[in-house]
Parts: sequence; structure tokens; C-alpha cells
Amino acid sequence: MKPEEIFGNLTAFQHALAGHFDWLHRWYQAILHRDSGATIPDAAAAVCPFDQWLRRAERTEFAAFPGFVSLGVQHEAVHDKAEQLSVRARAGQTVTTSDYETLMVSVLDFGATAQALEREVWTALATVDPLTGLGNRQSMRTHLIGERDRAIRQKQPLSLALTDIDHFKRVNDTFGHAQGDKVLREVAQVLRNTVRPYDVVYRYGGEEFLICLPGTSVEVGAQVLERIRTNIEALQLDDDKGAPIPVTATFGIAAITAETSIEDAMEQADKALYDGKRGGRNRVVIYDGD
Ligand code: GH3
Ligand code: MG
Ligand code: MG
Repeated sequence: MKPEEIFGNLTAFQHALAGHFDWLHRWYQAILHRDSGATIPDAAAAVCPFDQWLRRAERTEFAAFPGFVSLGVQHEAVHDKAEQLSVRARAGQTVTTSDYETLMVSVLDFGATAQALEREVWTALATVDPLTGLGNRQSMRTHLIGERDRAIRQKQPLSLALTDIDHFKRVNDTFGHAQGDKVLREVAQVLRNTVRPYDVVYRYGGEEFLICLPGTSVEVGAQVLERIRTNIEALQLDDDKGAPIPVTATFGIAAITAETSIEDAMEQADKALYDGKRGGRNRVVIYDGD
């Protein structure tokens, strides 16, 4: 997920929504005062700022939210009903209370869907780290509890790994904070692209990441981590003057079982990671019970 893109679109969405209701109000005023000779405006969806937003948002991650498609359909419905009323009003026919009722039902449906979509978007944003687009610490816990329950129920192995970028303070000190942020985004991308589809990566802290590996023993998990480790090492990052930024990371992995709580496993993975740091960094260490 690209939180910045979604966040940018959220502001545009709110403006477009205000634009739609503004249009509706002006249209309603014209219909109401048509006796005084006011012209009945075109009610087609295309004249509405919300329609323009929908077209732009179609090509963004906003379109992936479940409410998006129905919102477009309901927006069309509001305008179609308004246009039907416009046609009658222009022909000098009576617009009945029931015509207004039908329109109002559409308006309310649209408003409710818009609100639901906005809630979905905020919920998604609250679970994501803005810098890397990975899940954040808040969303991690609920997911880990679920994975542990499932692993126990299905008698499947489950592993938990912690990763910490090596000498990251040095990266910041040498190349600046902005370059440090770039490194974090690049490492996050490697993590996302190298794990298997059912593994989940979280940004656990500043330059620390947590990987949940369902159905995976620590031995197999260590092979996955080894692949990630080499991909991080192979990253060819330069600062803005073209100086190479060396990046490596150290990994610790432990098993989550019926006897090990998530906290236990996290502590064990952290111990393994610490051993890896002490042993020279840029390596994968399996927790071996001290
Ligand atoms: P080690 O190999 O032992 O892990 O050394 P290290 O320098 O990576 O470890 P340390 O924990 O001392 O430094 C982590 C640094 O990460 C310090 C902090 O300023 C930096 N950091 C944390 N969050 C961010 C961030 O969002 N952006 C940037 N640029 N730096 C961050
Ligand atoms: Mg650290
Ligand atoms: Mg570090």
C-alpha cells in the first residue's frame, strides 16, 4: 500500500464530496425557484466535481477499497434521478413529492457509502507505516495472535523473525537522514518482494522489521531470511553525489509454539539477532535456547 498516495487522495475525495453536495444544493435551488424563471441546470454526472475525482482515483490504490465501485454507481444514480426531475421541470410538468423522495433515497445511499469508504480508508491508514507502506506495530499484534491460534489448531509450524539494519546510525550520520529514509524504503521493498505471498512483514521499530512466517520451521525460515539477507547486501544504493551507501542487515529467528507466547518468541528472536550482531552482523541466526 502507498499511504502517501491514499492520503493525498483522501483530501481530494473530501473536496470532491463537498463539491457534489454543493452542486446538489444549487440544482435543488434552481428546481425550487423555477417559477421565477431560473434555468434548470444540466444534472449529468459529468458536470459534478465528484465524477472528475472518481476518474482520477480509478487509477490509484483508492480504487482497491471495497466501497469504491458502488460509490461510483450510486453517484450516477443520484445524477440520473436529478436529470429525470430536470427534464420534467423543463417541460413544465409537476415534480411530485414522490419524485423528490426517490431522489432523496439515492442521495442518502450515496452519502452512507461515501462515509463507509472514508472509514475503511482511515482504518487502513492507521495500520500502515507511512514511510515504508508496511504494516505497523499496532496492526502486527492482532495478526500474530491469529496466526499463532491457527498454527496450534492446524498443528503447523510458525516462525517469527526480527531484522535490524546494520550500523544504520552510521548511514544517517554519514549520508544524512533523508538518505537513511531512502535506505529504509529500499530495505522494506526487498523484504516485501523476497518473502513468500503468505509471509507478512511489519516495520517493528526505527530500522527494525518483523517477519511472520506461517507454516515454516525455523530451519526453512532461515533459508528465506538468507535470501533476504543476500538481496539487501546486493542493493546498490548511492547518495545524491553518487557515493555508494553500503547496506546490510542481521536476522534472528525463533519458533512460536503452543508453549511459546508471542512475547517469548519475540524475545528469543531478539536474542538470536543480538548474537548475530555480536558475531559480526550481516548474518542469520536461529535461536537455540541460549
Ligand atoms: P547496529 O548494527 O548495532 O544495529 O547499529 P545501528 O547503528 O543500526 O543501531 P542503533 O540502534 O544505534 O541506531 C539506529 C538508528 O536508526 C538511530 C536512529 O536515529 C535511526 N532511525 C530510527 N528511525 C529512523 C527513521 O525513520 N529514519 C531515519 N533516517 N533514521 C531512523
Ligand atoms: Mg536497532
Ligand atoms: Mg541497527
